[in-house]
Amino acid sequence: MSSDDRHLATPLSGTPAREGLSERMRGLTAGIAAPELRSAVVPPLYLSTNYVFSGLDGRPQFDYSRGHNPTRDLLGEALATLEHASGATVTSSGMAAITLLIETTVPVGGHVIAPHDCYGGTWRLLDTWSQTGRLTVDWVDQTDPDHLTQALGQFDGAPVHTDLVLVETPSNPLLRITDIAEVSRLGHEAGAVVAVDNTFCSPLLQRPLTLGADYVVASDTKFINGHSDVVGGSVASATTEGAERIAYHANVIGVTASPFDSWLTLRGLRTLDARLRVHAENTRRIVDTLTCHPAVTAVHWPGLADHPGHDLAARQQDGPGSLLSFELAGGLDAVRRFLDGLRGFTLAESLGGVESLVCHPATMTHAAMSEKAKADAGVTESMIRMSVGIEPAEDLVACLTEALGRAAS
Ligand SMILES: *Cc1c(COP(=O)(O)O)cnc(C)c1O
Repeated sequence: MSSDDRHLATPLSGTPAREGLSERMRGLTAGIAAPELRSAVVPPLYLSTNYVFSGLDGRPQFDYSRGHNPTRDLLGEALATLEHASGATVTSSGMAAITLLIETTVPVGGHVIAPHDCYGGTWRLLDTWSQTGRLTVDWVDQTDPDHLTQALGQFDGAPVHTDLVLVETPSNPLLRITDIAEVSRLGHEAGAVVAVDNTFCSPLLQRPLTLGADYVVASDTKFINGHSDVVGGSVASATTEGAERIAYHANVIGVTASPFDSWLTLRGLRTLDARLRVHAENTRRIVDTLTCHPAVTAVHWPGLADHPGHDLAARQQDGPGSLLSFELAGGLDAVRRFLDGLRGFTLAESLGGVESLVCHPATMTHAAMSEKAKADAGVTESMIRMSVGIEPAEDLVACLTEALGRAAS
């Protein structure tokens, strides 16, 4: 048995009494009252960096906390259960998760296909590594299967083996939807590994491994923790072999999360289902307000019937989510009037927390992009992105209406 087999064979998260419960229920309650954790109702926080060997042949289940830690592994088991994965490794950030994915699946000089409108940090990582010679990358509009098919197995006009297709759906800030099953099929046909960044949906709204993907990466900083007080990430794997390779490389390069961050994230995860229900209810109210208001020229949200990804999102996701963007008549001046004196919504980057946020992608999250790249991604000056929180809906609607009134004046 390899050291990783030992950990996967010894779940911390549950007792036989949990058999028959849904993955959702088991994931959200992982480790609650587990006899493996001395039947504490809330599982304890293991800060110890090292563990006792009982003798020369007596390697303990846990030995050194970089590789495995009971608190972090419990969170990994919870996330794996929710993602319908064989295992998950918890990392110190979402970027650490993507770094770990690439380290595990892409050899030096290998070829990666990524979305042309992917998360800025992912864009920077792949761009930097393509400049240092670590890998080659092609940026593709994955909502267009023809564009993907052309890019697979080719770089710079020459045939190559594509190692990894990285998908991000819904995209940011236009909430474009990519067909995970179709991309997985095309990627696998070309012999590539397919991974999905599931940050925007969380496993409660979308489970890419059940649609054919090999890996899920996530920034647990967002919905998973949900309280904007931990930076973290995770990689979940469809197969046991994949999970072992990910766990091995996580220990090799040292990207695993701290026990305390893992403990906080597990605490945040407990309320994910409840939070998502309120996020959804509030988002509906906000979208109704936006779509009826004369100051608003466009609303991008997959729950709207006229959104280009509406039907696909309805099939692929368990809900349209609580991220949206909208555009104001009157360009940047209207955006300034909207933001100046805005109450109830905080102007900040990030998303997925209990608090409602707005951001101006053109000058904030997407500021590093060239004007052409912004235009290709559909990021306009008059666009505002919103992450709808779980505050009382009446108050949010009142604050939004007030700000839209200013924008229109
Ligand atoms: C935030 C984010 C990341 C990066 O995660 P960090 O936890 O900030 O390192 C990756 N992908 C998406 C879609 C994100 O929103």
